[in-house]
Amino acid sequence: MQDRNKDRAPLTAEKALAHFKTITRHRMLVAKGCFAVGLYYQGLTHDLSKYAPTEFLVGARYYQGNRSPNNAEREAEGLSRAWIHHKGRNRHHYEYWYDYPTDWTFIDQEANPSGTIPVKMPGRYVVEMFMDRIAACKVYRGNNYTDADPLAYFSRNASHNKMHPETAALLKKLLVMLAEEGEEKTFAYIRRHLVR
Ligand SMILES: [Zn+2]
Repeated sequence: MQDRNKDRAPLTAEKALAHFKTITRHRMLVAKGCFAVGLYYQGLTHDLSKYAPTEFLVGARYYQGNRSPNNAEREAEGLSRAWIHHKGRNRHHYEYWYDYPTDWTFIDQEANPSGTIPVKMPGRYVVEMFMDRIAACKVYRGNNYTDADPLAYFSRNASHNKMHPETAALLKKLLVMLAEEGEEKTFAYIRRHLVR
């Protein structure tokens, strides 16, 4: 029998603690943002599945400090079980919101052989995704963080092409507002106009 643990990075108590601190700090930042716009339940439960063994043990084993442990898992094992577990349970990820149509005649089979289509995300999850990106940029940029960083990340990264167009448009609108008018005004706008 093949020992799957043989060639893998070792799991140590130090890495487990460092990983625990990283996800907890991230969750606190997202909670603060979600609470500021009245999304209390989402603030409390954001990324909770990261403490489940399937995600936590991978995160600890492949703890990097400066990049996602999921990428290290992908390189070592050919797929990230932690990510597959995560995206299926966390509605603030646009990857959760893929469906397939009942009428395949609309699908360009050459351009999209899997046939999956992004569906529109409810507003409250777009806002949680927005808070998630702010928190990630704050940790990544440290003292150099500015309100323009999350928009810069959005523009650099092509992932919005994989979202439903209305989801991408709402996310971008909030990111532009954040860059131009700051957190206080943008969060107030969300409180007033959020269609949950
Ligand atoms: Zn997440």
